[in-house]
Amino acid sequence: MIKVERIEQPEELTEDVQHQLTAEFKKDKKSVWDKKYIKDKLLKECNNKCVYCECFIGKGHKEMHIDHFHYKDKYEDEVVVWSNLNPSCPHCNKSKSSHDTYEEPIINPFEQNPQDYFYLKNYRYYGKNSQVEKIVRDTIGVLGLNDTDDVVKFRFEQGEALIDKIEDIYEFASENEKVLCNDTRKKNRVLRGCKNILNKGIKEAEYSAFMATIIMDDTYYIKLKKLLRTLGLWSYELQNLDDEVRKNRMQTTPDL
Ligand SMILES: [Zn+2]
Repeated sequence: MIKVERIEQPEELTEDVQHQLTAEFKKDKKSVWDKKYIKDKLLKECNNKCVYCECFIGKGHKEMHIDHFHYKDKYEDEVVVWSNLNPSCPHCNKSKSSHDTYEEPIINPFEQNPQDYFYLKNYRYYGKNSQVEKIVRDTIGVLGLNDTDDVVKFRFEQGEALIDKIEDIYEFASENEKVLCNDTRKKNRVLRGCKNILNKGIKEAEYSAFMATIIMDDTYYIKLKKLLRTLGLWSYELQNLDDEVRKNRMQTTPDL
């Protein structure tokens, strides 16, 4: 989970339209939020990812669900309030179900920065300290964020593949250290590989909180960066990507 920003609500969702849709919902409980203009804007807002577990959603991926952060059947007036619509995956939306976030708050990545609450270990989320312990446990429990089969397994597979990839690129670069600057083909392979690695940790990438943390803490990545710097091959583009990824990195140990 990473911090996400709201974008402006769709023009079509005027105050009048909101009143009309809310009245319709109160009358017959129809899915009044299920509109193309709402879904398109939400997908853009979340970079095609579930705002909770960060799996890809939308075309070619899991179906996008619209989670009402405050449960719609209880807080009917918020059924099409833009700030109450959280794009999510089927797993997180179904896990959260009718949970009352007013009575028992959970972390809303539009409002709170997950970096202030979680640390990551073994592809799982944990509470950073005792002050956040309650809300973190509720968030993990309500959303099923540490469910092995539905979520953890996928982070594990992608994370381990990324670790292998980093090691491969570093080994290739270090074996070819002496010729790298003059051999364009080999140089490009390393630079492209490095860029591909970093692209796994930017905010548009799937499971970016975990991937960014893996990259930044990986011994071979640190060595690769150092080697490219020494050879004068570390570009502005790579540095910018590195900066972006670093922003998504999370703690891997609890606060002291
Ligand atoms: Zn999800």
